[in-house]
Amino acid sequence: MQSPQARKVADVPTVAVGEKSSDLGPVQNYLVRFGYLSSPEDEPAAAATRAAFTNAAQLPGPFEPGVLDDPTSQALAAFQRFNAIAVSGEFDEATRDAMSQSRCGVPDVGSGLAFATLCAWGKRDLTFAFDVGTDDIAGDGERQAVRNAFRTWSAATAMSFTEVPLRPGSVDIVIGWRPAADPDHDMRGDVLAHADFPPDCGVVTGRSLPKPVHFDDEEHQWSVGAAQGAFDVESVALHEIGHMLGLLHTDVAGAVMFPRIAPSSVNRALAPDDINGIGQLYPPFWSNWFSLGGALTGDPAVGVNRDGRLEVFIRDGNGAMVHNWQTSPGGGWHGWYPMEGGFTGNPAVGRNHDGRLEVFARGARDWLYHNWQTSPNGGWHGWYPMEGPVTSDPAVGVNQDGRLEIFARGTDGGLYHNWQTSPGGGWHGWYPMEGGFTGNPAVGRNH
Ligand SMILES: [Zn+2]
Ligand SMILES: [Zn+2]
Repeated sequence: MQSPQARKVADVPTVAVGEKSSDLGPVQNYLVRFGYLSSPEDEPAAAATRAAFTNAAQLPGPFEPGVLDDPTSQALAAFQRFNAIAVSGEFDEATRDAMSQSRCGVPDVGSGLAFATLCAWGKRDLTFAFDVGTDDIAGDGERQAVRNAFRTWSAATAMSFTEVPLRPGSVDIVIGWRPAADPDHDMRGDVLAHADFPPDCGVVTGRSLPKPVHFDDEEHQWSVGAAQGAFDVESVALHEIGHMLGLLHTDVAGAVMFPRIAPSSVNRALAPDDINGIGQLYPPFWSNWFSLGGALTGDPAVGVNRDGRLEVFIRDGNGAMVHNWQTSPGGGWHGWYPMEGGFTGNPAVGRNHDGRLEVFARGARDWLYHNWQTSPNGGWHGWYPMEGPVTSDPAVGVNQDGRLEIFARGTDGGLYHNWQTSPGGGWHGWYPMEGGFTGNPAVGRNH
């Protein structure tokens, strides 16, 4: 039996619009196979994926085999747009190069505008199991690489993935290596791997579980990391798991969901485009409220330490400032700790250009006082007056050059501001901005 790609795209000479070439077959096969051209004998997976789109009927076709006719030229132009190469509508050198590269077996569909999604799972906790591995990698290195890829997605989504033993009927996703002529999705040619989509939009197994993530173990060499001529399992797994979660191909080069990857390379980090896509499919959700304890008064202010740890400031029942901080980024809390002082208003926090937090609050004589870390993530200097009087809580912003600037209402109802004369440096003194106000200020920084 002849492989559909036995004659390679790479061997097809340049063909212009209107030309007839007995060699054009592999190019038209590619365009049909990956969702650019319609054919009566469409591959079932390609046709089913496209059927999920309202514009499926708008695909160019039918075409005359071996002729670069109008439908074939339109399909070539769409491929060229998706791949950000010059749009000629002809089969030229740049198109040949792009079509000759190894790629995912899932068709390119959608509008070609950044990320595209198909549908989401109805649950957020999925299970996966392994069946056949590859002899290309020693031990169970390929399994660890796939586990790493699941971990990368779970860090970017409100989803969890649990590895379970392979038991039919009880697993959502099964990962394995297959011959190129994979019965559930043909990978012969330059196809590296394939997956399916969630049950509501599945094209390989439909609604049935488990869903496949299959790697071609016959025509490609697999590796852990970049190795000469081989493909990094973690990079390809990250892409295929993206399909399993409901993402389609993006035309953003460098994103994980871009359909092609070069051998001897790694792409193990999600790009903003990938994260935007998964966030649209699985919007983040919130934990329950959790008490940090304390007998407190007024409103809190929160800052972010240079190492990413949150730190929160608020007055206690006696008007003294207390603070509490994460003991590791995103981690648990230290507990409330006194910063002393006697305050009549709520604090505001800014971060100096070098990462040192600085807190402001209204205290004795209605003066504003500030207190700052003496080193990033470090200890505190102690309260120091900025004078006043002020009649509102302060707000603090960061100028483009890193200088802090604070705002507060004066006794005349006008707004006043005060700014660092250099990043992290001394303060200019209060200066009027006029107006007649009855509330507290807030500060934003435009792009
Ligand atoms: Zn893909
Ligand atoms: Zn398969």
